[in-house]
Amino acid sequence: MNPSDTLREGRFPVSVTRKRMKNLYLRVLPPDGRVAVSAPLRTSDAEIHRFVESRTDWILKQRARILSAAPVRFENGGSVLYFGARLLLCVIPHAGRAKVERNGETVVLRIKPEAGEADYQKALNGWYRAELLRAAEAMLPGCERTVGKRASELKIRDMKTRWGTCNIKTAAITLNLRLAEKPPECLRYVLIHELCHLHEAGHNERFWRRMDVYCPDWKRIRKLLKAR
Ligand SMILES: [Zn+2]
Repeated sequence: MNPSDTLREGRFPVSVTRKRMKNLYLRVLPPDGRVAVSAPLRTSDAEIHRFVESRTDWILKQRARILSAAPVRFENGGSVLYFGARLLLCVIPHAGRAKVERNGETVVLRIKPEAGEADYQKALNGWYRAELLRAAEAMLPGCERTVGKRASELKIRDMKTRWGTCNIKTAAITLNLRLAEKPPECLRYVLIHELCHLHEAGHNERFWRRMDVYCPDWKRIRKLLKAR
């Protein structure tokens, strides 16, 4: 009996277990979205490959669900979300002030050795704030041209219930810090949404008609924001 081996199916790792059973069986496992195939003893690799191939769409959907639900861990070797991507968190003990920098797919956090999760969160939030402000400032002029209104100021706050707010008297827009974790199209949607309030204060029919024009797939993007 060939106990367990791993095939590389291009976009995701697949582990195969052959056992005394009748049918091929496939699962996508948390927390990393690994694909586990159980196969009858005499199944060939080619058959397993075809089987996995035929279920690729389903596997990708399950993987997306599992990966987005996996908890973000603030520890060395854990992960942080960055504009929709999951980056590896690398923690390096460091005597001075905490420092965070991104190096490709890795976020390096230099922090005092006795620091705990709350200190990690605080240091990362400072970094998220700077990264979100930079991204929002770069994106704002295009959104302003689309909507035909201008913001007077961008602010960032760690808000509990809203992704953004717009003060229609001062035209100041406040963004939720957690937008730094969401795909960039979410940031664009929130900027356009808040600028749109400079035309229409409330969420009335005219407001959403404007959104249809300025950001035609706002419904899909709003779902991304509501997920978690
Ligand atoms: Zn609104």
